[in-house]
Amino acid sequence: MDLEQVKNSVRNIPDYPKPGIHFKDVSTAYQNSDVFRYIAEEIHEKYKDLGITKVVGIESRGFILGGVLADKLNAGFVPVRKPGKLPAKKYSQSYQLEYGFDTLEIHQDALVKDDIVLIHDDLLATGGTISATIDLVHLFGVSKIYANFFIELDFLQGIKKIDEAVPVWSLIHF
Ligand code: AMP
Repeated sequence: MDLEQVKNSVRNIPDYPKPGIHFKDVSTAYQNSDVFRYIAEEIHEKYKDLGITKVVGIESRGFILGGVLADKLNAGFVPVRKPGKLPAKKYSQSYQLEYGFDTLEIHQDALVKDDIVLIHDDLLATGGTISATIDLVHLFGVSKIYANFFIELDFLQGIKKIDEAVPVWSLIHF
């Protein structure tokens, strides 16, 4: 298994969900056991010595590898969810998507100051989603924040929107 095989396992869907958007479908990568394990192991390798205490996964595709990474890193898992899904007291942050607007929420008791947080999502596009999530995590005054993506769409330059204090690393780039 190598990164080229991983890249080839991601399905490209032209004009979904809107004309002009080239949707990267990660389900074709995740449904292959060898590819899925390789992706999780490669990301784990990068973060295993950083003392991560919580993995924050972004709804919904960030939950899939986020849970696996939390287990491998011996960290807790914290969901950042779409509005109205979390049942207890929460913080909210609105943001702009590549295709629309949305709001993200996190439980107010999800993180503590001593946490070293790895935020994970499947894909970095324009950077709106991760920036809103970083804003939410900052509310807790945690010690350190890292951001990881399975895929980064380089041409959209979402990386430029992300707080420079947050190290960002993506496994594959298109
Ligand atoms: P953005 O806020 O623009 O960085 O968008 C990132 C979020 O939207 C991630 O949660 C992705 O799952 C989803 N997303 C945005 N663009 C795409 C795309 N071209 N293919 C697949 N998912 C996308």
